[in-house]
Amino acid sequence: MATFDEMLDANKNYAESFDQGDLPIPPARRVAIVTCMDARIHPEDALGIELGGAHMIRNAGGRVSDDAIRSLVISQRLLGTNEVVVMHHTDCGMMSFENGDLAAKIQEDLGVDASGHDFLTFTDLEQSVRDDVGALESSELIPDDVAIVGAIYEVESGKVREIVRA
Ligand code: ZN
Repeated sequence: MATFDEMLDANKNYAESFDQGDLPIPPARRVAIVTCMDARIHPEDALGIELGGAHMIRNAGGRVSDDAIRSLVISQRLLGTNEVVVMHHTDCGMMSFENGDLAAKIQEDLGVDASGHDFLTFTDLEQSVRDDVGALESSELIPDDVAIVGAIYEVESGKVREIVRA
């Protein structure tokens, strides 16, 4: 695990100057962000979020999956957030394959049948943002007084643009 050894080295420096060990659990900004796991996005840096400021829920595509909703319910009901930002991004890998492509690869690599599994791929970036904002709006677990914003992060420019506000 050479990579992890490098991380441990880096962490020594981080911990040496660390002085924020007394932050409260609820996020100071009262916001949760659902975004992609893409390594080219540092959401906190891109959005000016300090340590302790926001919940960051990341998965492939930044999709509002059942598990993302699980985290949002905990974030809202137990930790006081009242705003959600769904932030997808340009050049997302989730637009580069379809369910059947990945199922075929899983069959080939692992000998496992994953046909019928929905990996939550998409073809239209703006529409995927609107779909996920809509999924939050229609979920009975997300109350109407929660503010929801859909946005797109541009990996080419670092810019974020708003798509929809609900
Ligand atoms: Zn992505």
